[in-house]
Amino acid sequence: MALPKRRHSSTRQAKRRTHYKLQAPSVSECPRCHAARRPYHICTSCGFYNGRQWVEPKAQRGGTADAA
Ligand SMILES: [Zn+2]
Repeated sequence: MALPKRRHSSTRQAKRRTHYKLQAPSVSECPRCHAARRPYHICTSCGFYNGRQWVEPKAQRGGTADAA
């Protein structure tokens, strides 16, 4: 198996790792309920995307449904 001829210096390793960083997830506003949602995703608070309801909003399902 091929092996590296020489070890990389810690500076070279650090330079490579300057690109390893977390990015904050992008957030946009829902045009219907103005809640924060991910762009190009269904709004989790009202279930709407592109002017149409695709899923039931999260507040209406679950929670009290288990107690009944
Ligand atoms: Zn919404």
